[in-house]
Amino acid sequence: MAVTRTFSIIKPDATRRNLTGAVTKMLEEAGLRVVASKRIQMSEDQAKKFYEVHAERPFYGELVDFMTSGPVVVQVLEGEDAVKRNRDVMGATNPADAEDGTIRKTYAESIEANSVHGSDSDENAANEIDFFFSKDEIVG
Ligand code: UDP
Ligand code: MG
Repeated sequence: MAVTRTFSIIKPDATRRNLTGAVTKMLEEAGLRVVASKRIQMSEDQAKKFYEVHAERPFYGELVDFMTSGPVVVQVLEGEDAVKRNRDVMGATNPADAEDGTIRKTYAESIEANSVHGSDSDENAANEIDFFFSKDEIVG
């Protein structure tokens, strides 16, 4: 299995509850290494662009409001099969459907305020990493 990278966001519901370390610990225990990390306040423009793929979905406006409601921590994670490894430890989008031991089962408040984002493909991971990080901010 190849070592790859994925992109993660610790969402405002988690930073608000001071769970940055707790979430990161679960990522690390799942075999992922944080090779870049920064706490930012996402602008409305950034959130709209980042979630553009969901622009036609009914929850888009509220999602943009939520993602800009407080600080987030954007991260680049590295590990074997990083995209899938991260999706597995994140759990299902809706915490009610997430398996025990996943981040969303443990910490998410709702299907919207679900504590973490994770890329869903290697291609999207590369694009999402580029969206938030310059090359010299990533130190593997
Ligand atoms: N979301 C929402 N309502 C829904 C589905 C999704 O508010 O019915 C939000 C939720 O924060 C989710 C994000 O939109 O994480 C992106 O949705 P996606 O289907 O890509 O889920 P993910 O890949 O995050 O599991
Ligand atoms: Mg998604």
